[in-house]
Amino acid sequence: MTKHLAGEQPQLPETIWRLTAPPLVDCPPLQASIEADVAIIGGGFTGLMAAITLREAGRSVVVVDATEPGWGASGRNNGQVIPGFKWDPDEIVARYGPKAEAVVAMGGDAPGLVFNTIERFSIDCSPVRQGWIQPAYTDIGARRIASRQAQWARRGAPVDMLKPAELPQILGTPIFQAGWIDLRGGSINPLAYARGLAKAAVNLGADVHARTAAIGLRRQGSAWVVECEGGHRIQACQVIVATAAYADDLVAGLRKAMVPVRTAQVATAPLPAAMLDRILPGRHCASDTRRLLTSFRISPDRRLVMGGSGATATLDHSSIVPRLHTAAAEMWGHLGALPWEFAWSGFFAVTNDHMPHIHESADGVICALGCNGRGIGISTAIGKQMAERLLGADARVMPLKPIEMKPFAFHAFRTLGVAFATRYHGVRDKIDKSKFR
Ligand SMILES: Cc1cc2nc3c(=O)[nH]c(=O)nc-3n(C[C@H](O)[C@H](O)[C@H](O)COP(=O)(O)OP(=O)(O)OC[C@H]3O[C@@H](n4cnc5c(N)ncnc54)[C@H](O)[C@@H]3O)c2cc1C
Repeated sequence: MTKHLAGEQPQLPETIWRLTAPPLVDCPPLQASIEADVAIIGGGFTGLMAAITLREAGRSVVVVDATEPGWGASGRNNGQVIPGFKWDPDEIVARYGPKAEAVVAMGGDAPGLVFNTIERFSIDCSPVRQGWIQPAYTDIGARRIASRQAQWARRGAPVDMLKPAELPQILGTPIFQAGWIDLRGGSINPLAYARGLAKAAVNLGADVHARTAAIGLRRQGSAWVVECEGGHRIQACQVIVATAAYADDLVAGLRKAMVPVRTAQVATAPLPAAMLDRILPGRHCASDTRRLLTSFRISPDRRLVMGGSGATATLDHSSIVPRLHTAAAEMWGHLGALPWEFAWSGFFAVTNDHMPHIHESADGVICALGCNGRGIGISTAIGKQMAERLLGADARVMPLKPIEMKPFAFHAFRTLGVAFATRYHGVRDKIDKSKFR
């Protein structure tokens, strides 16, 4: 089984999200061969949102997940619903031309799609939409966020610069010198969101099967056949491959079109009121501007949850966890020792241009990957768009157009590359801090 999952164990990781997420709707393993209009491989936000969209349009849908819906990055992230992509709006337009305003809009609107979907299906995932804050702790970072805020403001987004004097009250730490807020963002329990999408898909009539790895994909006449572990098959006219960083060789070239990058999360025990009143008391969520950024928020069960501070391409997150604890102590050490209780990690997919990619064949297979760590909104939006494409949308009007699949440069050296990038970015963050504070 694990060969399908980038080497990870098939059990749900020990995250805090499991403690409060509602149980998964009944998704038994596939027990017989079956036919459907569309087969979807992978039950994260991407695959599940595609299933919902296709069912709402009346298509029959089978979703299979090698482990269970929400097992991948979808159920183990920080739960920050962040607008936009890695690149700023003007950078996207400069790279891809004026029509790329549609891509910018897709990124900006993605949190709205998430929060609307939560409302539409009454998904019990503790949504909080108080805004996403990006604080900066050097002059360089401060200039960058001022430009970013101005670019979004020009496009009519509900964004604002925060007053430096107010940052310590908003964030609970004096280390940042500037910050902006994007009111489109917010936070959720991500595992509960994934399980809520699975429940919505099942209630709409989708067949969703856990513990069912797809191990082969081949053409048979005018149909596609998905071979599943256990010997059963799905015959479908169209196929969506939504395996993200956990992609294998089901579609030739897909695994090598991205690098799976592992990032870690740490969480405290529920915090005492004295700390909760000081750390993000407005229940915003935040990610800073460092190259090795940290993301932080308070969970619905009153824990500080923090991620980032580096990455690895291996299965081992043990070098990242102490860095996260140190980063947290730098921010909130003045409030006392933080009671760390949990640490976990997972892979997200990085592409060579740091943008998500959609790939499609001429005969009905479509895949997407590469949310590059900003995937709650974007993967939800891409799942919907891939479904719309299979329903007949013209590729020319899709914000993210299907592109040719190309291998990630130096894919074979990814472990060294990610380790080098983490060190290099860490050193550059230290230089920035010493020169520009
Ligand atoms: C630690 C971490 C923190 C993050 N924090 C944030 C955040 O705060 N905000 C944000 O926006 N984004 C964040 N991200 C990114 C975000 O979680 C992902 O971009 C998003 O969840 C990707 O969703 P997905 O559905 O495309 O893939 P996944 O959720 O990874 O789902 C892929 C699924 O495919 C299944 N699969 C794989 N192979 C097969 C097969 N052969 N057969 C059947 N099933 C298969 C797997 O079991 C898995 O369930 C984070 C990611 C990580 C890892």
